[in-house]
Amino acid sequence: MTRRTPRTLGVVNQKGGVGKTTTAVNLAAYLAADGQRVLLIDMDPQGNATSGLGAREAETGLYEALGEPARAAEYTRPSAQEGLDVLPATPDLAGAGVELADDPDALTRLLASIQGYDMIIVDAPPSLGPLTVNVLAAVDALVIPLQAEYYALEGLAGLMGTVERVQGGLNPRLKVLGIVLTMFDGRTNLAQEVETMVRGHFGELVFWAVVPRNVRLSEAPSFSKPINLFAPLSSGAAAYKRLADEVMQRVEKI
Ligand code: ADP
Ligand code: MG
Repeated sequence: MTRRTPRTLGVVNQKGGVGKTTTAVNLAAYLAADGQRVLLIDMDPQGNATSGLGAREAETGLYEALGEPARAAEYTRPSAQEGLDVLPATPDLAGAGVELADDPDALTRLLASIQGYDMIIVDAPPSLGPLTVNVLAAVDALVIPLQAEYYALEGLAGLMGTVERVQGGLNPRLKVLGIVLTMFDGRTNLAQEVETMVRGHFGELVFWAVVPRNVRLSEAPSFSKPINLFAPLSSGAAAYKRLADEVMQRVEKI
């Protein structure tokens, strides 16, 4: 797939610790391993995707690129996965939340000027603040990681409300590509009940791929590698490979 305009996906959930960064990094890595040219944009000032891909020492990155979209390529860094680059978060990005509060289209302008990629994946911070609003305003579609726990659906209702407001204003073409269950522990009744509930409520919006709780996924970032390079035979790797296949199929239709 060589397109002039890259497909853009945001990995979004206002709750922290639900698997956004793990999903963004490993989805991006499998898309790149499949031959796509992929850019991962780290929109979270905590910079977990940046460090997970070994770009933590970068002194410049997304913050500078938002200020100078035409020079974005100068701020991107390669990763261990061929075909996957990262636009790193640096500490400056924390201050950008204030600047972006009055500028919901800053990321949109940046994405419009980035060239040379088939897919751009944006890892969002755990809030519905200005950085996340910029993500919602800029991307074609969302991948929403959902931890299989009892209150997951309530949090999702709030996010879906925000998505609808953005669709009615800032970004009418925004779509929800799908919801992915993460950190799934199939041995517990609760996890299975939540899966049944989420699939009953959201139907085909829920990806068939379910990401299990797998310690290899939590170890990989400290080796600066995505799971396909760190532990390709792990259950976590299999799940993210399957997710990447489903994402490709759905992206072709948007
Ligand atoms: P978020 O970006 O939503 O805050 P993360 O992807 O950073 O969430 O995940 C939170 C923590 O859980 C991290 O330490 C991560 O390594 C770990 N983690 C994420 N997904 C899994 C999984 N499927 N199995 C085990 N640990 C996971
Ligand atoms: Mg994160």
